Order: sequence, then C-alpha cells, then structure tokens
Amino acid sequence: MSTEVLAVREEGPRIGGKRPACAAAIEVRYPHTGEVIGIVGRATAADVGQALAFAAGFRSTLSRYERHRILVRARELIEGRANEFARLITLESGLCLRDTRHEVRRTCDVLQCAANQVLAERGGVYPGDVTESGGARKIFTLTEPLLGVICAITPFNHPLNQVAHKVVPAVASGNRVVLKPSEKTPLSALLFADTLYAAGLPPEMLQVVTGDPADLGAALLDDPRVSMIAFTGSSTVGKRIADRAGYRRVILELGGIDPAIVCDDTDLAVAAELVARGAYGNSGQRCTAIKRVLVQDSVAAEFTALLVAQTRRWRTGDPLDPETDIGTVIDEASATRIEATVAGAVRAGAEIACGGTRNGAHYAPTVVEPVTPDMSLVTEEVFGPVAPIVRFADDAEAIRIANSCRYALSASVLTRDLNRAFGFVTGLHAGNVNIAEVPGYRLESMPFGGLKDSGLGDKEGVVEAMRNYTTVKTCSLPWL
Ligand code: NAD
Repeated sequence: MSTEVLAVREEGPRIGGKRPACAAAIEVRYPHTGEVIGIVGRATAADVGQALAFAAGFRSTLSRYERHRILVRARELIEGRANEFARLITLESGLCLRDTRHEVRRTCDVLQCAANQVLAERGGVYPGDVTESGGARKIFTLTEPLLGVICAITPFNHPLNQVAHKVVPAVASGNRVVLKPSEKTPLSALLFADTLYAAGLPPEMLQVVTGDPADLGAALLDDPRVSMIAFTGSSTVGKRIADRAGYRRVILELGGIDPAIVCDDTDLAVAAELVARGAYGNSGQRCTAIKRVLVQDSVAAEFTALLVAQTRRWRTGDPLDPETDIGTVIDEASATRIEATVAGAVRAGAEIACGGTRNGAHYAPTVVEPVTPDMSLVTEEVFGPVAPIVRFADDAEAIRIANSCRYALSASVLTRDLNRAFGFVTGLHAGNVNIAEVPGYRLESMPFGGLKDSGLGDKEGVVEAMRNYTTVKTCSLPWL
C-alpha cells in the first residue's frame, strides 16, 4: 500500500457563481484506504431554492457559435488536465487509473460531439401550398430551450462522464441546469463545473448542489420551476422520482443485468477476452457491465476454462498504480454485499471457478458456474466484477432466459452467423444490442437507453438528449 499522504479537498456547492458556506459537511473517502480525501459542504433545501431562483431568472443569449466555443474550450482545458481529472476520479471512487483515464477521454468526446451538434440547424421547413386549405404560406420550426430549469441527478459509477452526459447537451441547447451529483463522488463534478465556467459558461446555466439526497431530494423534485428531471441511477430511486415527476418531462437511465450470449460458432478465445472486459471493466460497476454470461451447452466447459484463464490475468491492487487493471468497488459495504450474493449462489449449488475473495473494498474478479436463471446473482443487479455463467441449449432458450429479467438495457451476442445475430437483435428485450462487442460499447452521439426496469424507452446520448432538452416552436409566414 502506498504511503503517500493524500491532500484533502474542501469543497462546496456552486450557486449563482459563488461557493456559499454550509453549516454541515459530508466526507468523501478513498475506497482503497478509507482515507478522507474531501470535505464537501452539505447544501440545504434553502440552497436549492437559491440555485433554482438564479437559474429561473436567467435566459441565455449565447449564440450557437458562443456555445460551440465554450464546449470546445472546455474540452481543451480537460485534455490539458486529463491526469488530474483521472486521479481525482480514482481517489473519490477507487476505480483504477486505466478506467478513469478512459472516462476522461469519453468526457472530451461528449464535449466535442455536442460542440459539433450545436452548429447544426435541426429545424424543418414545410411549404403551405400542398393542400387546398394550406394556402400560400411557409411553415418552419425553431428548437428552443425548455422554459423551466433542468434538474440533473447522477450516480457514482462514472462520476465525470455521467455528469457530462446530462450537463453538456443542456449547455449546448441553451438550457439551465441544477446538478446534484452523487454524494459519494462529488469532487470531479465540481472540477468539471469550474472548468466550464473557466471556458466561459455563465454560472446561472450550471449550478451544483452537493450533499445528502435526503436533504435535497424534495426541494429539487417538487419545485415548479423545474420542468424536467434527468436522472441516472438505480431503478429503485428512479421509480420514486418518476412517481414525483407529475406533469413534467423525465428521463430515467436506470440499472441493468446485461447478458453476453456466447454461441457455439464463435471464436471462444476472443469471446473470453471480451466477456472479461465487459464484466470487470470499471470494477464491474457499469449499468451495461456483463452481469450474466449465457453460454451454449456444447462449449460451456471450454469457454469457462478460457474465461478463468483470462480472469487470472486481471491485476487487482492499488488503483493509483497505472499497471492495475481493476480497482475497488465504491466502498466496503458494496464489496461485502457482492460477497454475500456470491455466497448465496454457492449455497444454491453454484461453484466459484476463480476469484471470490474480498479485501476491504476490493472484490477480486470472479467466475461463478453453473448459475441458474432464478439465482439472485442474476436476478438482482450485482454491481461488481462477477461473471455468472448460465447455460442454454439453443437460441430460443437463450432469448427466453435473457428476456426473463426485469431489466432490459443492453446485450452482447457472440456469433459469426449473421442470421443468428439478427434473430437475437429482433428477439431480445433490450435498448441496445451489440454483436461481437461488449454491451457497454457506445459512441457518445448514439441513442442509448433501456426498457422495462432499465428505463422508459427514452434515449440519452448527445443527439437524443439535445432533442429531449428542447421544445419545437412551429411558425408560419404568409409567403410561399
Ligand atoms: P442511486 O440510485 O443510489 O443514486 C443515484 C443518484 O440519486 C445519486 O446522486 C443519489 O444521491 C440520488 N438520490 C438517491 N435518493 C434520492 C432521492 N430520494 N431523491 C433525489 N435523489 C436521490 O444509484 P448509484 O448507486 O449512485 O448508481 C448505481 C446505479 O446507477 C446502478 O443501478 C446502475 O446500473 C445505474 N446506472 C445506470 C446508467 C444508465 O445509463 N442506464 C448509467 C450509470 C449507472
């Protein structure tokens, strides 16, 4: 273990361009050592009211070009401080530097993608003289930011990129956002906000309230100045938010138990490498992590041996060591829950093929086999580096097992047969299906989002989010 003494960041909310003092604070700990690395002001309902008043009283007059410049400048600033951003995410989350450097690169892509999008006009033009009653008129549409404020609430597992996916399309479309990042990982969100201000963003367009959701939730969710709630997090909290949203737009990006389906015609060595990456990357804490590995009976033994060999190559350890492949999960309580769920599967008849050990908040990458579809290891979302192997006989059974889950976010299918692949694409309940890729493969621009307990079918991704964050005004003129 490193003997480096970690500096403690003292932070607080960002409201109306200021950093108001808070009477109470929350601690942010480095999950690898348990050290306090941040003391963050615990905002109150009154602070939320202030932030909403600033936001609601402001209308952006920034041109498209000015918004484009702010986003490009922010991307350049983050690229210049990429190591600092990655290290901060590692300290607040325990994710290893390999993962957090990747996350910073993705955030830069989000910024660049939105900077490009903002320059494109998305309105339509319609001639009036196409019907008898239409007349000599010309109709066109304008996209406008929402009349009210966007409330964005984000989870801990991609502390920077999840924030970027809410805030950046909102800025690009000229909206005002009040962001509540996870209380477990607020530090990179605050550095991101400061970077946007440094790039020229008016502070009213992005404010950040930090603290305990029990103090802030009602003040954010029930205020009539909020006209849209954009939430990413667990299905339990997402459904509570949906109940409160009432007559407002809501986007819910919720949990997942994504399957990887390994067919008997695939290259098993390639499949094992891909499944390990999909199950263990980001410490297994991705909504789109592989959380079930469905393997065809005839190749299950060979595939399991290859996956075990792959799993043993993943280096666990100090998240700040650039050679480490897998850091901690978010805290020891989470690692203990994962350990207990794996133990439950073992009591029900499964075996640990490798891994299965815990050290504080570290949980070793683990293969469990054979798992049946009714075990809680694959019916509840286990947010950690576990690959449970479930066997299937044929494609119809694989689809039946995959679809028996209450989540439907993303899926991966490993086959070299295009006809089989297309059968899975049409048969699976999922918002995204990736052939010969991990379920988490995504471009920042593409539509992304799930069904069933993973979401209501609305999509995020920069392009869709900009559409969701705007309204269309239709205007007609008395000319052809
Ligand atoms: P969580 O639901 O516990 O918390 C998410 C956010 O909601 C946090 O900011 C939290 O403070 C806030 N929150 C909690 N209770 C609240 C309340 N009553 N009112 C208002 N806000 C409240 O989720 P988590 O543990 O931080 O994140 C992990 C979950 O997020 C997993 O289920 C994962 O699958 C999901 N996730 C989904 C996506 C996606 O795009 N579909 C992406 C990343 C993570």
